[in-house]
Order: sequence, then C-alpha cells, then structure tokens
Amino acid sequence: MDQLRYFTPHQLEMVTSAAAMAEELVSNFYKLSSSQLRRLNYDIKTLADLSPMEIVSGHFAQILKYKLKKRDVLRETEAEDFYKICLQDHSILTALEAHPDLQFQSFLLYIVCHELIHVVRFRRFLQQFQASAAERIAEEQRVHAKTNEILSNLSIDGIAEVLKFYENWRDPPHPIEQP
Ligand SMILES: [Zn+2]
Repeated sequence: MDQLRYFTPHQLEMVTSAAAMAEELVSNFYKLSSSQLRRLNYDIKTLADLSPMEIVSGHFAQILKYKLKKRDVLRETEAEDFYKICLQDHSILTALEAHPDLQFQSFLLYIVCHELIHVVRFRRFLQQFQASAAERIAEEQRVHAKTNEILSNLSIDGIAEVLKFYENWRDPPHPIEQP
C-alpha cells in the first residue's frame, strides 16, 4: 500500500470544481434531465472520507455499489443502489509527481468523468456491475473511449496532456466492487 497522503484544502476545492464540470459534461453527453441526473444516485469522496475497505493502492479511484435500504422497507428488492466513487488521493498525487506535465485540475476532470460514465452505463444497464475479467477490460476500453470523446473537443488547460497520458494507459481496470 502506498503511504496514505491526502489532498490539501486547495486541491479539494479543485476536486469540487472538476467534479461539477464532469457532471455537466457527462450529463450533456448522455442528455440526462435533471431528475435523471439525481437518480444516478452517486457520491464522490476523497481519501479523508473513505473507510479502510474503500482504500486501494495503485488505482486513482474505485467504485463501490451499496444498497440503500429505504426506511421501514425490509425487502431487498426495495433497496436502491448507491454508487460511491472513491478517489484515492495518494495514488493520484503519486501519478502527478511522476508526470509533471499533468495538471491537477484536468487530471481530476478526466478521472471523475470516467467514473461518472461507468455509473451512467450501470444505470442504463449498458454494463453489468458483476462482469467477467474480459468483459471488465472491454468495458474499461469503451469508457476510456467515451471519456476521450467528451473531453477531446474542450479547450481546457492541460487536457491534451491528460488525453495523451491515457492513450498509453495499460493498467488493468480499477476496482468496481459490491461490498
Ligand atoms: Zn474505469
């Protein structure tokens, strides 16, 4: 496990603005209404808000799917899925140090866009949450291609460097788990 390191308050502000922008871009891309956007039912958390089992090494993020039980409802089928996008500050900071051409804000924009596309595709049943290893790799490639499509036409500082970084991305898919 990498040494755990946390985003600074200034970096957390940049995460918040990158997340807001990612939400708008993904929402426009998939033509989501505001109620559809609310029903995506997800949250984005950074390391400081993660429990030990939500922390992974060597990945920038992981997605966990929780069942939210409605109050007074006992049947599992009545439970709603909730997706928690867990940003791994320590891995992101290590990557930024190893690749000085990457900028924090645009790197985070890519990461959050990518995770949101996963969530949209799960919600639309375009992808099963529980999938085989081969299917996960294929899905990862599709999600990277979509992220690229959404971000490549934007004139945002540092985005070209981030897209170039991901062009050569050969790591296995990041964890997507149901605790
Ligand atoms: Zn992914």
